[in-house]
Amino acid sequence: MMILKSQELSRALRAQIKERAALFRQSKGRSPSLAVILVGQDPASQVYVRNKVAACEEVGFKSAHHELPENTDKAELRSLIEGLNADPTVDGILVQLPLPKHLSSDEVISWISPSKDPDALTVENQGLLFVGRPRVAPCTPSGVIELLKHYKISMAGKNAVVIGRSQIVGKPMAQLLLMENATVTIAHSKTADLQAVTSQADILVVAAGRPKMIQSQHVKKGAVVIDVGIHRTATGLCGDVDLESLAGHALAVSPVPGGVGPMTITMLLMNTLKLAESSFPRG
Ligand code: NAD
Repeated sequence: MMILKSQELSRALRAQIKERAALFRQSKGRSPSLAVILVGQDPASQVYVRNKVAACEEVGFKSAHHELPENTDKAELRSLIEGLNADPTVDGILVQLPLPKHLSSDEVISWISPSKDPDALTVENQGLLFVGRPRVAPCTPSGVIELLKHYKISMAGKNAVVIGRSQIVGKPMAQLLLMENATVTIAHSKTADLQAVTSQADILVVAAGRPKMIQSQHVKKGAVVIDVGIHRTATGLCGDVDLESLAGHALAVSPVPGGVGPMTITMLLMNTLKLAESSFPRG
């Protein structure tokens, strides 16, 4: 069974991004820049934000990190985002989710200018993706497509099943697979017979958020399985797929950690760079 690790691909893409960032700096006199906003003190979010800021520095981006207290009100957050929207030296604005309960993530995301939205979560960017003309696409599913291409796993004409229908992973994942000419099915928490659906998949992407829920009986022999899930357990990280149970059964599986995870931040950097490169003139 092939293990679809992303370290080498991620390193190569980041080297490419670093080179393009240097060219950008030479021609525009400033680095591509990402503003990251964290509201509150969720420890997992703090780690994600730290990793994103460090990744920006590694490829020569400027990153500004805005940490706001848990009780930040709507007006304050909106005025920060609108200030960043108006700042011509900011290329990307990322609001780390989840937000504290008193703030609606849909509403907050709607304040971000779509031309500065590297997570591709604004309605405009989701719409562009779903009409097949993405400005940028959400980072995790974009990373899955890059990983499949890197391992030369063709998608055209294949039965692809995506488990999960979130706005950030499942739905855009299905759309990106469709754009690669796969025949796509989305399964979700109300799917009547999950195993009947997943066992038809040549390519199975699992983004359900349920530790090790997918085992060999869900998987067709010779299928490719991509595990998007991330769970912290007492013994370390695990995904939505029980990788060991697929040995000798699946053709290939992406591991957790070391599979999809690192690709997400790499695609965030790529999306920020694309927004920077297309920002002249910004209007
Ligand atoms: P979510 O909770 O928003 O969505 C989960 C989806 O799975 C829902 O659409 C639900 O219908 C479906 N689902 C839940 N239980 C199911 C079941 N038993 N059978 C079939 N479908 C089921 O989660 P999300 O934000 O889409 O993230 C999914 C997972 O991916 C989580 O574990 C999350 O931590 C992980 N994730 C990883 C990355 C990364 O960088 N690798 C990025 C984002 C999310």
